[in-house]
Amino acid sequence: MIRGLFILSPMQISCHSVRKTYGTHVALADVTLDAGFAHTLALIGPSGGGKSTLLRILAGLEMPDSGKVSIDGRPMVFEEAWMHKYRVKVGIVFQGYNLFPHLTALQNVLLPLHQVHKLTDSNQRAIAALDRFRMADHANKKPSELSGGQRQRVAIARALAADPEVLFMDEPTAALDPEMTAEVLEVIAGLRGAKQPLLLVTHEMGFARETADAVAFVSDGRVLECCDAGSFFSDPQSPGAIRFLERILKY
Ligand code: ADP
Ligand code: MG
Repeated sequence: MIRGLFILSPMQISCHSVRKTYGTHVALADVTLDAGFAHTLALIGPSGGGKSTLLRILAGLEMPDSGKVSIDGRPMVFEEAWMHKYRVKVGIVFQGYNLFPHLTALQNVLLPLHQVHKLTDSNQRAIAALDRFRMADHANKKPSELSGGQRQRVAIARALAADPEVLFMDEPTAALDPEMTAEVLEVIAGLRGAKQPLLLVTHEMGFARETADAVAFVSDGRVLECCDAGSFFSDPQSPGAIRFLERILKY
């Protein structure tokens, strides 16, 4: 179901009959989605519904079994060479930071700039990225010397250091306590303010409601609703979304 007019829509993502299985297990049964959003699209829905699988496909980390995807009118080509080039243009942040434990914050930011983007003289750029998230003073610390919130800020700095066209985030606050969650959500809200195109999976409903332009509700391997965040939270249409919101907003 598609509702709402996306008047400001610099980003457009469409999926048509996307299917992904792991062996006999169907992770995405049939995802059809047409999302236009100014800056932020939030994927929400029950655990196991297929949010991460959909995000990984949109980020070019996995290929679907079948179906079509296009981003800003450009079709994705599910061939390794194309996906490799595509991945260079996007940034990705996961729940568990994925920082290399033996490298400092600065070295973690520098590594993809050197190895993926082939930018040799990138110290300034890496420090500026850390500084943007108030991590420049911790540049020489290893992940074990940083708090969870600080680690996630380094991971965000790393993902943004090369100016990606889109930033993908899969539950970026799921491993954090409430105070650090607030700290990282504030950083993400700031990205929206900076007009960074952002696609995120989140269980933070208040945040999605306040910050996302559009929401896609993913359940049982399908997108059951996709519309502007205000309409979704005030007037969900699909029985699945109504049940989900009732359940999580009960306590
Ligand atoms: P969500 O992020 O909404 O919790 P996922 O996309 O992680 O959902 O998972 C959708 C379904 O696919 C789940 O049943 C999950 O167990 C399964 N799944 C996801 N990734 C894999 C994998 N690599 N191998 C096997 N099953 C997987
Ligand atoms: Mg997930």
